[in-house]
Amino acid sequence: MEEIVKALKEANGILVVGHIMPDGDDISSVLTMYTALKRLGKEVIPAIDWKIPWIFEELEDVKEIVNYDGFVKSSFSPDLMLIVDSSAPDRIGRFAELIGKIKTAVVDHHQTHRKFTDYSWVDPTFGACAQMVLRILEKLEVSHDEKLATLNLMGILTDTGFLQYPNADIRAYKDATKLVEKGGKPYVISRMILENKKLEQFKLFAEVLEKMKIEANGLLVYSYITQDMYEKYNCTSDDSSGFVSELRSIRGVEVAVMFMEIEPKHIHVSMRSKEWFDLAEFARSIGGGGHKRAAGASIKGKSTQEVINMVVPELIEKLEQEVSVK
Ligand code: AMP
Ligand code: MN
Ligand code: MN
Repeated sequence: MEEIVKALKEANGILVVGHIMPDGDDISSVLTMYTALKRLGKEVIPAIDWKIPWIFEELEDVKEIVNYDGFVKSSFSPDLMLIVDSSAPDRIGRFAELIGKIKTAVVDHHQTHRKFTDYSWVDPTFGACAQMVLRILEKLEVSHDEKLATLNLMGILTDTGFLQYPNADIRAYKDATKLVEKGGKPYVISRMILENKKLEQFKLFAEVLEKMKIEANGLLVYSYITQDMYEKYNCTSDDSSGFVSELRSIRGVEVAVMFMEIEPKHIHVSMRSKEWFDLAEFARSIGGGGHKRAAGASIKGKSTQEVINMVVPELIEKLEQEVSVK
């Protein structure tokens, strides 16, 4: 962490990069770092090489975020690329092309992180990358006002399921409390993220429920969305990112999986576990990554059914193995 703080202090131009298929922690970490570094007088561009999900559009600074084309067009030449919430180069899209060309640093909390930058601070004991960002801001002596506290808080709340998941430890509660004391508004975040659903999402989810399968004596639940289904309900993958945790909430379920065809023959496998199944290792074995209780993988060149056939039998076997050991 000290090395990264030093590199940030020394740099004049900083490119802050988050991961593709961005979530709340990612956008929070990018925008909190962007805002803080700008207040220190740095030249900063916030970047994510993916379309920002519409629910985040009401955040004031979200429109400042550029993708790789936007970065190239800006003619900005940064001295440092600060990457947040990303476990591997393929998670930052085309910004990976800059690795080896400019100085790079990463702040990440994924269990499956593999070192790929000049400087890295990786600590999977943090529930959210935003908690690590908070510590960097404290070291940089940037004080939080209401706006910055709310942005920073968003990451903690979203990655801990609004302080409900097992990663919501005392430190997460204390960090959240600290940000609320500084003016952070949890209800602004919960209204934006939890109470903002489109009717079409419910209709799509109804079909997801019809297609849902239960396996391994009720321990595994899965369903899927094909491109046709997204089109039928006028939805995109932004609209279905919360479905997997709904499936996990079913009584007795340990693992929930959503197979989502986010582009033709590009299947995103989104996985959640409830209490004991380690998904980080499993996700890595199919080319993805993540945390113990939330992990994912993106598989290209196969149909939804082919990916289901590849993943489900293996998960059933692993779940049954673990149960027999218990
Ligand atoms: P998701 O299911 O997309 O919400 O992702 C859950 C967790 O897994 C997040 O922490 C992601 O960063 C991680 N993850 C998702 N997809 C991938 C992937 N293709 N490669 C590595 N990690 C991933
Ligand atoms: Mn993330
Ligand atoms: Mn995260």
